[in-house]
Amino acid sequence: MPELPEVQTIVDDLNKKIIGRKITAVWFDWPKTIKNPKPKVFEKEIKGLGVEKIKRAGKNILIYLSRGYLLLIHQKMTGHLLVGKWRTQKISKFKYEVVSLEKGLLQEKVNGYIHLIFYFDNGWQMALSDLRKFAKVLLGDKEKIENLPELKKLGPDALDKKLSFKKFKDIIEHIRGKIKQALMNQEIISGIGNIYSDEALFLAKIHPFKPANKLTKKEANNLYLAIRRVLKKALRLRGTSISDFRDTSGKAGAYSNVRLVYRKEGKPCPRCQTLIKRVKMAGRSAHFCPKCQEF
Ligand SMILES: [Zn+2]
Repeated sequence: MPELPEVQTIVDDLNKKIIGRKITAVWFDWPKTIKNPKPKVFEKEIKGLGVEKIKRAGKNILIYLSRGYLLLIHQKMTGHLLVGKWRTQKISKFKYEVVSLEKGLLQEKVNGYIHLIFYFDNGWQMALSDLRKFAKVLLGDKEKIENLPELKKLGPDALDKKLSFKKFKDIIEHIRGKIKQALMNQEIISGIGNIYSDEALFLAKIHPFKPANKLTKKEANNLYLAIRRVLKKALRLRGTSISDFRDTSGKAGAYSNVRLVYRKEGKPCPRCQTLIKRVKMAGRSAHFCPKCQEF
């Protein structure tokens, strides 16, 4: 699932590509993606709205539109937002493929699971490609969307300047659960998922199963710094594409090439050469060095 660096990469791309554009039409073949309003109403209401600004809230993309509307997009497991000037062609009953009309865009072959397309007044399009079809889209009054529980309940953003070490420590010392799970819980701190919790815990030399409230002050500080370091680096490298993240031009992120432990089970630890372990944890996996990150 895209995490803070991936979602921010998309938001930065969108800010460069679609600000000031007017939505002239939408197309979709999987109405379930549109959670609000009813797909037919969605189609009618969004037509003619202009794109004013784009922000990120945790892993959500918020597209502010004219007339006080807000479009929320959550990419979930496999959603990709692609923006460009292309021809969308049907390749089988359910599969669409995007063919770029411009050089330099979408050089890589993008998967064909396009289920929603927004058309803009300059001939560009923004498409949602979503293999597993878990992505969700909501349109509504700005205030209504901003007050949805999924946004209201978000914890402080992992890269928010206002999230000081003191605040971070205050938050985690009240949590009895495993530190990795606490980091991935969007209601505690937002933006971190499986990839960057593994990477930050490795840097901070903390076992993923250690109870959050058992971290020493030194460990908490190391973790706080590690989270910022890892997220900023991943942001600079435009995300991780181990599963299938792509930016809005269909390009992979480069953090995958420099990652330390995530999905590196059986490979030597970059610090001590001990083999990286993978352990299941509540349906997810934790990757760590059993030596550097002793319990
Ligand atoms: Zn190690």
